[in-house]
Amino acid sequence: MPADYRLRGQAAVVTGSTSGIGQALAEALAAEGVDIVLNGLGDPEQIEADRRRIAAQTGVRVLHHPADMRQPDQIADLVACAHREFGRLDILVNNAGVQHVAAVEEFPVDKWDAILAINLTSAFHTTRAALPIMKAQGRGRIVNLASAHGLVASPFKSAYVAAKHGLVGFTKSCALEVARAGITVNAICPGYVKTPLVEMQIADQARTRGLPEARVIDEVILAAQPNRAFVTYDQLAGLMLYLVSDMGAGVTGAAYALDGGWTAA
Ligand code: NAD
Repeated sequence: MPADYRLRGQAAVVTGSTSGIGQALAEALAAEGVDIVLNGLGDPEQIEADRRRIAAQTGVRVLHHPADMRQPDQIADLVACAHREFGRLDILVNNAGVQHVAAVEEFPVDKWDAILAINLTSAFHTTRAALPIMKAQGRGRIVNLASAHGLVASPFKSAYVAAKHGLVGFTKSCALEVARAGITVNAICPGYVKTPLVEMQIADQARTRGLPEARVIDEVILAAQPNRAFVTYDQLAGLMLYLVSDMGAGVTGAAYALDGGWTAA
């Protein structure tokens, strides 16, 4: 029997929810009756079509706010928008993220700055805006999408690894600060998920290595993942829904590996 997470009537902000994991998590919350503020970049017509589809399928209110996760003022307005439009904010999912792969001495400075801003600092700006609202409500849930790279490193991903380790540290510190305010703060650390971002990497690697995509997946992309299987949207949604429900009330300051065994090795 599917769990009843008892989230109906709550309101959530999910950053970076116009694609991939963020969109899947926003849809999972909407399916549980949670009003949603979507956020993220992309084709405005596609974003509007997705917004309408999710609202029609689930019956909840769905808005899109275009805040750029590099802009503190816009981020503050994203959080204020949920409070303004829905009168509450129960759940914040910090998911927006970007990647760039290069050796440290060749790493473009603008890429370093963007990765740190979007993958780490944006969570500070959303959290600092959300906590006063959650404290006034006496309850709140914050889930930060880190990565297996928040727990272990790989070469050529220095900015991403630094940002994701930073996000795990930020998660723990915030959790301690609000532990007695009915608010939990946790991180999810996924291994590879087959999002549009990863599908592009598979195609690129297949071209540059002259390998079929199935071999790239098994020998390159999933080489670090002992179960040799992508993490799925449903697995991520299951863990997030647990964390944001009352069942997750005792879990805070945790960084959950969901990585097929990657970080156990
Ligand atoms: P994606 O590229 O499919 O989606 C990223 C989202 O972030 C999009 O909605 C995009 O518009 C948004 N975004 C990017 N820059 C932005 C900006 N400046 N302002 C506002 N929004 C912005 O990526 P994904 O694979 O779904 O990744 C989502 C999160 O999960 C990221 O934090 C990523 O690091 C993390 N993650 C992904 C994987 C994976 O294998 N895909 C594994 C571990 C962790």
